[in-house]
Amino acid sequence: MHSEDDLLPLSGLQHLLFCERRAALVHLEQEWGENRFTVEGRNLHEHVHEAGRESRNQLRIARGVRLRSLRLGLTGVADVVEFRRVEAPAGVEIPAASGRWQPFPVEYKRGRLRSEEGYAVQLCAQALCLEEMLSATILEGAIFFGATKRRQRIAFDDTLRKATEAAAARLHVLLKGSQTPPPLFEPKCEKCSLLAVCMPKVAGWRKSAARYLEGVLDE
Ligand code: SF4
Repeated sequence: MHSEDDLLPLSGLQHLLFCERRAALVHLEQEWGENRFTVEGRNLHEHVHEAGRESRNQLRIARGVRLRSLRLGLTGVADVVEFRRVEAPAGVEIPAASGRWQPFPVEYKRGRLRSEEGYAVQLCAQALCLEEMLSATILEGAIFFGATKRRQRIAFDDTLRKATEAAAARLHVLLKGSQTPPPLFEPKCEKCSLLAVCMPKVAGWRKSAARYLEGVLDE
């Protein structure tokens, strides 16, 4: 179990699974850079959070829901948590509504429908936070893609739960180590908003230059 002071941002999981160096640059060195993808993503999240609560007969929708898990050592915000009316004993009780309601987290992402491990792990971490906070069991949620307005359902099976727990543990090790991993240029770097800060091509050149000088001086 972690203490309140030990909690890390849940959003760090997605950075971690994209690139450990990115996670360290953002959370250890407080670096940030915007590109088209991050601006579109931020606008989408702000729009979702501002929409307010919704209430229908069989459905309650909460937005911008604060999350925390002492077990995983994470804190964050869920874009949307839907509560769907179910038969007892399933679900949980919610304020100002009778009956039982099944929590169903929904994370909003820019662009078109696609599968990314980081998205599934981030959503599963939200579900694990909700399970701990509400003493609930949550078996699935969804990722909503803004460009196509389509949902991708994600099952929180054992494999995904274990991957999420491992990612949370790895994030704690990485950020407690206080050491940012070195850059390694890969095709995904072209999409990374920290490309200009990270300079993986230049840093790679510097490393080969250092190796070259080491070799020259050893001769
Ligand atoms: S530019 Fe590449 S190496 Fe650097 S943080 Fe981004 S993904 Fe990682």
